[in-house]
Amino acid sequence: MPLNELKAVDYLKLIRKREISVEQTVKDILKQIDRLEQTLKAYLYINREGALQEAKAIDKKISSGEDIPPLAGLPIAIKDNICTKGIETTCASKMLKGFIPPYDATVIKKIKEAGGIIIGKNNLDEFAMGSSTENSAFQTTLNPWDITRVPGGSSGGSAAAVAAHEALIAIGTDTGGSVRIPASFCGIVGLKPTYGRVSRYGVIPYASSMDNVGVLGKVVEDTALLMNIICGYDDYDSTSADTPVPDFLLSCREGINDLKFGVPREFFGPQVDIEIKEKVKEAINKIEQMGGKLEEISLPYSEYSFPTYYLIVSAEAGSGLARFDGVQYGLRIEDNDNLEDMYKKTRSKGFGAEVLYRIIMGTYALSTGNYDDYYLRAQKVRTLIRKDFENAFRKVDLLVCPTSPELPFKKGRQQKDLLAQFLPDAHIIPVSLAGLPGLSLNCGFSKKVQLPIGLQIIGRPFEEEKVLRAAYNLEIELKEVNSVQPNFTFNSVSG
Ligand code: GLN
Repeated sequence: MPLNELKAVDYLKLIRKREISVEQTVKDILKQIDRLEQTLKAYLYINREGALQEAKAIDKKISSGEDIPPLAGLPIAIKDNICTKGIETTCASKMLKGFIPPYDATVIKKIKEAGGIIIGKNNLDEFAMGSSTENSAFQTTLNPWDITRVPGGSSGGSAAAVAAHEALIAIGTDTGGSVRIPASFCGIVGLKPTYGRVSRYGVIPYASSMDNVGVLGKVVEDTALLMNIICGYDDYDSTSADTPVPDFLLSCREGINDLKFGVPREFFGPQVDIEIKEKVKEAINKIEQMGGKLEEISLPYSEYSFPTYYLIVSAEAGSGLARFDGVQYGLRIEDNDNLEDMYKKTRSKGFGAEVLYRIIMGTYALSTGNYDDYYLRAQKVRTLIRKDFENAFRKVDLLVCPTSPELPFKKGRQQKDLLAQFLPDAHIIPVSLAGLPGLSLNCGFSKKVQLPIGLQIIGRPFEEEKVLRAAYNLEIELKEVNSVQPNFTFNSVSG
């Protein structure tokens, strides 16, 4: 088996036993990147030389018998809205083209200290706004399962890279589904932790009250492994939580007999594709057979999630993105009459259409006279949505539902129907509004065209341990179902 096809947990064991080398693994990954990238376009930057150099250094340490840190030699792909010292970080926006951060985000610092190797920076929807990765200013990433379709977004580059074995594992961000949707569309595992669990320091903000760093892995254990490294309080992020971090990998292995699962009625309505409903229900039956208890529950306010979410994120984006004014970072249009003209020209040229829509909508919602009617009201509804979950979690430990109500859709759909881009978000944004942990696990495929189907497991705040445990146990039951791989016959097709 080429080494790039290994799971991260297995890879690290083989490295420690000195059965394989880090250098060969990095080479196998780069080979796969060379074979597929022309079509897939999952990366905006490939850290070829840097990764090879680090690989050699770690191999040397291992062969000399030195102590090595927990992720030593693990090649990791990083979404390009996370600051990496010395490596261009663009948010897939013309605004930040050429921006080379002078520091590492906390999550990157932790990964490097643990011995991880950055293999490259992944494509995304510009400033993480979107669900298909089509909003990137530079390129459209395609879905490895069917290159006429999108990989989901906004961490679509990271998910496609992991699914296509162009990385062993990836770090993404999830504000309103951007880890879970692409994980679902690409048939891998995606975990969004509780808000505050992982430091956001150095993550370029989209909507600060909802942004999270998340993990995209081939299997549940891989995501647990990386969670052990990246979680924890950070002095540099006042919203990071000072909550103990358990050993997620260890707790995965316990059973699920003690867990009660809620099935939210609203997430199985007519909006959900029939094949998705069928596969998710089959998986839920498996949970019951494994000893998990089931109960139907209701989240009545979730139907208000769309306006609530899009209003809040637009308001926060409108205010947060004010920092991109041509003065401190990235783009500046020099041909201007005065300071104000420079702001206007820089911002109109630097931001793409979707980002501009949201800035305009958000600024409107926050303006004098509108604040109470829009922003404040949305925050009140957000509380109601959160209370729905609190009520549910009085009765059950976890919730299960389809991650997305629809299958990966065709590239280009949103050019015809702008609002259609929001459809995949129905079951994930309530979770984001409530700040809860959510994981997407593949639970089957559609028949006509073989497309992955994701199931979402939602937990109480800071109970990622239970989410991962349930997912790990269910994944074992679904082993047969998930043994298929994309066939990559497209490597000769140019995208
Ligand atoms: N579809 C969501 C949005 O556009 C996803 C955002 C995210 O999680 N970064 O806001």
